[in-house]
Amino acid sequence: MCGIFGICGHKDAARLTYLGLYALQHRGEESAGIIAFNGKKNNYHKGMGLVGDIFDEKVIKSLRGNMAIGHVRYSTTGSSSVKNIQPFFVKHKKECISIAHNGNIVNAASLRQKMETKGSIFQSTMDSEIIIHFFVKSKENNYKNRVIDALSQIKGAYSLVISFNDLLIGARDPYGWKPLCLGKLDGSYILASETCALDLIHAEYIREIEPGEVVFISKGSLESIKPFPQNKHSLCIFEYIYFARPDSTIFENNVYLTRKRLGKELAREHPVSADLVTPIPDSGSYAAIGFAEESKIPFEMAMIRNHYIGRTFIQPSQFIRDFRVKIKLNPIKDVLRNKDVIIVEDSIVRGTTSRVRIKALREAGIKKIHMRVSCPPLKFPCFYGIDFPTKKELIASNHDVEWIKNFIGTDSLKYLSKEGMMKSMPLPECEFCTACFDGNYPVKPCGKLSKNMLEGS
Ligand code: 5GP
Ligand code: MG
Repeated sequence: MCGIFGICGHKDAARLTYLGLYALQHRGEESAGIIAFNGKKNNYHKGMGLVGDIFDEKVIKSLRGNMAIGHVRYSTTGSSSVKNIQPFFVKHKKECISIAHNGNIVNAASLRQKMETKGSIFQSTMDSEIIIHFFVKSKENNYKNRVIDALSQIKGAYSLVISFNDLLIGARDPYGWKPLCLGKLDGSYILASETCALDLIHAEYIREIEPGEVVFISKGSLESIKPFPQNKHSLCIFEYIYFARPDSTIFENNVYLTRKRLGKELAREHPVSADLVTPIPDSGSYAAIGFAEESKIPFEMAMIRNHYIGRTFIQPSQFIRDFRVKIKLNPIKDVLRNKDVIIVEDSIVRGTTSRVRIKALREAGIKKIHMRVSCPPLKFPCFYGIDFPTKKELIASNHDVEWIKNFIGTDSLKYLSKEGMMKSMPLPECEFCTACFDGNYPVKPCGKLSKNMLEGS
């Protein structure tokens, strides 16, 4: 997962990009970068960590130019290191090109191998760098056709912002896995992963960039083309379940209201009597509100979150991950003692977070714990940009619900059915990619990486 932002033709381009990235921080906490173009050259700053720590006033002032693009990264392909921080940029002849990418290119490994054999030199281990290579090498005679030429060679998920000299280019793959929206501020166009980035800077939301659409933006003007054959859309359903911010509109619909409907449906499917409904904050909160409303069982915030800690997945080692879960949430014993409680969670991935939290709830003197999950069991790895690693690590791909219930330590555990999930969505089932639940991959992954992921190495 990643967050991207771009703005063209605004005197405060870098500062607005910084604010946009701030709003998109939830999409990637590992690293961030901004590149601004001042008509002659690219000015850039990148770093590991959070947006607020990487940039300060001095840095923002140094990022001169009327155009800027930015990226927050959550590593999916490519190792987590400084050389993999986006946006990438190159200067080739007189052309300044930079790119920020959300999604995974599934044929990246084989493309790269072929290119390296022919002498191409790569600076990073990221799949996005391939797009720049294709663009630079293209034999087409104008930049529009060069973009089309480059994109037509890659397969998989991409929402992109590209700056090409003083032009801003936005693109979304024909399947439309990842969101990308269009906004406007002071007459300047903006591209952003989610509308929460537009809200923060008081930009107007215009519309979603459509699957398969490529837009070319210069100050105040926008040209849109759809150069690729139309195919079935595959919007990432997990954006609605977990990833996007609840105040965002993605795929033309609000996230909060969708999560609430998931919770209501969950209450209808798996009712149970209890004294209170409580979420695992923050991500479970919206489904929990829906669950409580539908079941008419009181809602309580029975766990308090320490807001100064990043997401639990960010630390690669298992030992640190458990520690961070414990440090993050504290149950309120006086609310929970001797109570039968329904705990609502948006999803279970590895099961390790849930297990530690349930243990902490037991220690708070809770009587019964009924866990309800607002999506079906996650059984299949994602090749398009979510960090659902290998089959081996996905708890529901190797174990049934009864086993998971015992592992996590709840008195009952129920997942929302796929039908229930689809009923709660604002768009019909045929619009979505549901591969992580059913293994129906719209574009088949290829190469060694995918083999490892499916076999669980
Ligand atoms: P688990 O209990 O499986 O270890 O962790 C589940 C928790 O991780 C849930 O609270 C869910 O909100 C969160 N989660 C689900 N998918 C992702 C992801 O891709 N990245 C991060 N950081 N958290 C996730
Ligand atoms: Mg959660």
